[in-house]
Amino acid sequence: MNPVFMSILLFLSMSMFVGTMADRYWLMRSGENLKMTDRPWERFKSLMIIGFGQQRLLYKRWAGLMHVTIFFGFLVVFTRTVTLVGRGFASDFHLPLLGGNLGLVYALFKDTFAILVLLAVFYAIWRRLVVKPSRLHLNFEALVVLLWIAALMVTDFLADAALFIQQPEHAEKGWAWVSTIAAGVFSGQSESVVAGWGNTMFWLHIVLLLSFLNFLPFGKHFHVITALPAVFLRRLTPSAALEKMEFEGREVFGVGRLEDFSWRRFLDMYTCTECGRCDEMCPANLTDKPLKPRSIIINERDQAYGMADHLVAVGKLKAQGKTAEAAAAVEAMTRPALIGEVNDVEAIWACTTCGWCVSSCPVMIDHIPNIIDQRRYLTMMEAKVPTVLQGALKGLENNSNPWNVSSAAREDWIGDLEVPLMREKGQADYLLFVGCSGSFDSRNSDVMRALCTLLNTAGVDYAVLGTEELCCGDPARRVGHEYLFQMQAPANIANFQKYKVGKVLTACPHCFNMIANEYPDFGLEDVEVIHHSQLLAELVREGRLKMKGTEKVAVTYHDSCYLGRHNNIYDAPREVLSAIDGIEQREMPRNHREGFCCGAGGGRMFMEEDLGTRINHNRIDEAAATGAAEVCTACPFCLTMLGDAIKETDRSESLKARDIAEVMLANLDS
Ligand code: SF4
Ligand code: SF4
Repeated sequence: MNPVFMSILLFLSMSMFVGTMADRYWLMRSGENLKMTDRPWERFKSLMIIGFGQQRLLYKRWAGLMHVTIFFGFLVVFTRTVTLVGRGFASDFHLPLLGGNLGLVYALFKDTFAILVLLAVFYAIWRRLVVKPSRLHLNFEALVVLLWIAALMVTDFLADAALFIQQPEHAEKGWAWVSTIAAGVFSGQSESVVAGWGNTMFWLHIVLLLSFLNFLPFGKHFHVITALPAVFLRRLTPSAALEKMEFEGREVFGVGRLEDFSWRRFLDMYTCTECGRCDEMCPANLTDKPLKPRSIIINERDQAYGMADHLVAVGKLKAQGKTAEAAAAVEAMTRPALIGEVNDVEAIWACTTCGWCVSSCPVMIDHIPNIIDQRRYLTMMEAKVPTVLQGALKGLENNSNPWNVSSAAREDWIGDLEVPLMREKGQADYLLFVGCSGSFDSRNSDVMRALCTLLNTAGVDYAVLGTEELCCGDPARRVGHEYLFQMQAPANIANFQKYKVGKVLTACPHCFNMIANEYPDFGLEDVEVIHHSQLLAELVREGRLKMKGTEKVAVTYHDSCYLGRHNNIYDAPREVLSAIDGIEQREMPRNHREGFCCGAGGGRMFMEEDLGTRINHNRIDEAAATGAAEVCTACPFCLTMLGDAIKETDRSESLKARDIAEVMLANLDS
């Protein structure tokens, strides 16, 4: 006990810590305002499940268990730490309720957790030095922090061990079982030597702890402090729903400099643990494109920390409402360009928005909006879009489809099939939203005709918009052309309202996502959106479509990112296939939540893939390895990409790509 020394230590360390945290706060405030405190109950639930429950870390991983042990160990040991600080002032200090029997039980728990933390720390060191999983970079900081944590546990054990030698009747002796055993190391030592060791371990523990606290905000272990707030302040909208951009009163569209990001993106930067889970199944990363989602966050964080002094000043000016001064301070800064120098331009365009990174990040970092914001800047502020994409954007502007086919031809796919038109029918139970692929891409028009034949057979009351339909807006929005998207979405919504549409049916997961998750921001209300796999499964269940085993074939189902990961529809397409007797389903190793992208999302369908290897080839190799004769899907983009990959890898004789509607039609018991 030394109240003076403890007061000095506390004063110095806490003033440094508060100063650093204040700087981090002002740095964050250099970003744009954003409200993230809506739906508090949902936020609280996330905090409990994802934050304290460590849900994402525990997903299929032993390493997650190690992290959870350290996390909970820290929570338990934290109480002990407060007690030790108190004992710097009064040797018999204890926290309320922990003075009696409860304190003894706590001592038992504390020692048990502390030993588990030690084991977890050694396991983590062993993984980094011996196992070396590819997603983990061997990082000096990580090793130092692990040893720091181990030292905290060991000094605590030894301080208590010395105490138990000095006070053999101490109440916690035996309960604090690790320290009781550790007391053996002091046996035979003189009282003064034991007291010296006890003192040294106690103060070493306190110094290690306070310096650890001050070290955290400077590296990736800042997440120890920011992870729980980041989970609480996470985006609650569906993973593929982009934020609506307001054009009024805005001079900069998208993000071209760090401070164009909202403050929430800065919290992402602070919170990245560099665990690499986001890189593990990123299709761009796995096919040697220059995109690694982890690097996007780390590159931005490095720039933010590198120019922290300037950004802190901007943050303070913005917080005081001194917008002009803040803008002048921003202009006065010289620094590498965010897009082009901090982040590779090719990386920004390489993202397929597949959602793997967002769904796998344990601390809810939102890579997709980060990347799309930079595309918005490139597209709307600088008009710098890949050459091939320029043609697609022109088509979307002129004819509301990326192939630039005359919009008057939007219902040509119908041919002589009986497909009701909304303008003739007036109203229907379902509006079948055909989408650009179904309307203009001949392979996907086949799918649409198969679907309509099934709907006609089952007697479903539906109609299509025909030439009144516009592109849903997905390609424009994903490539950053928010302005163009905001012209398309309201026009479609107006048509839905004109025909009093209550249910929208679509075979395209991109249209599905757009209408279900993004149109509500533009005024769409009370409309249920249904994917064709869901309706077809229901029609089979109700006996309105009967299947027979006409074909005997092994198939493997490919999960579309926008249907599966982004909208959680995994079972319906599989249910449809399992309704057909002759079909044997074989799963690819990467399935369901881990399904691998086809390469077409995020507007990539309309760009060249000339870096690295091809994503669709990677996926078709996996499909072929199952030995299946067919790869089935429920997405027009996936169908195109997989069909192309089959041709390009010379598998046309052994492998076929079909939509589930086509498989059903071929096996229909009519
Ligand atoms: S959304 Fe997919 S492609 Fe884009 S960065 Fe994340 S994992 Fe990679
Ligand atoms: S962004 Fe998330 S998943 Fe990726 S390295 Fe950082 S913490 Fe890990």
